[in-house]
Amino acid sequence: MHPIPIFYYHSVGGPRPHSLDLHNFRRHLELLRLHGFETVTVADLVLHPAPQRKRAALAFDDGLLDNYTHALPLLLEYGCRATFYVVPGYDSVTRWVQPRSGRWSDVPRAGYTLPFPSMSPAQRSELVSYGMEIGSHSYTHRKLGRVPVADLAHETRDSKLRLEDELGREVCTFCYPYGSFNRAVLRAVQEAGYQAACSTIPGYFSSSPSRFWLRRFLVESPAYFEAVLTGRAFSPKALAPLFFRHAAQWIRALFTAAADIASGPNHIVPSVDPIPEARRTEPPSHG
Ligand SMILES: [Zn+2]
Repeated sequence: MHPIPIFYYHSVGGPRPHSLDLHNFRRHLELLRLHGFETVTVADLVLHPAPQRKRAALAFDDGLLDNYTHALPLLLEYGCRATFYVVPGYDSVTRWVQPRSGRWSDVPRAGYTLPFPSMSPAQRSELVSYGMEIGSHSYTHRKLGRVPVADLAHETRDSKLRLEDELGREVCTFCYPYGSFNRAVLRAVQEAGYQAACSTIPGYFSSSPSRFWLRRFLVESPAYFEAVLTGRAFSPKALAPLFFRHAAQWIRALFTAAADIASGPNHIVPSVDPIPEARRTEPPSHG
């Protein structure tokens, strides 16, 4: 089976440098078309496996308005479907970024000059009408690995119920803010009734050890996007040009996940919920 990548994005076509350039995003979509990939939602990957097909998924975290105004028209132009992980607690909230540090603030603050408004509930419903998936990215976008256990149901179950009420359909998948989760978070996500959840650990969907911490790729460069598509994500040749730009980010994501798992209430590595054997394929090159 061909390795299946889930790519994830945040802002697209928004203020630079904290947003993916639209030109690069269009190149990603062209490469998907060129290599004959079908784009499906994360829920489809988990619930409707199709080992014979060449599939990829695109996910947009944080529910930013530019996902609707800039990414959606391109997705429709290229006939792509995608999953949007939204944060109901950010409705009507514009977040602000400090250009130099990349730090975010939920309220206007001196030096935080780049605005990132959020999508509205009506815009989320419109995405669904185009065949897109809406998933939950928690209620308030906190690092769940550090949230008291008593608050986890609000972040996982209540955000699911709120979105389901709003959209009139089941919300099947979850995405951990900052990639942060531990054993208690995994339990809360499963108890809330989700079918799967996305992490920020780099890797192919098809080699993820659990459907409750699916691996994904955060990619900007079209050249590396193509390497991931063609199963070469971990080849030294593909990684070398990116090393200085992305390694720190990936290592941070791995350490955040590891630290949260280790600091979980029971100090036990989460039990693994295996992806069925038929869908497990190691990427051909691990470098
Ligand atoms: Zn996020």
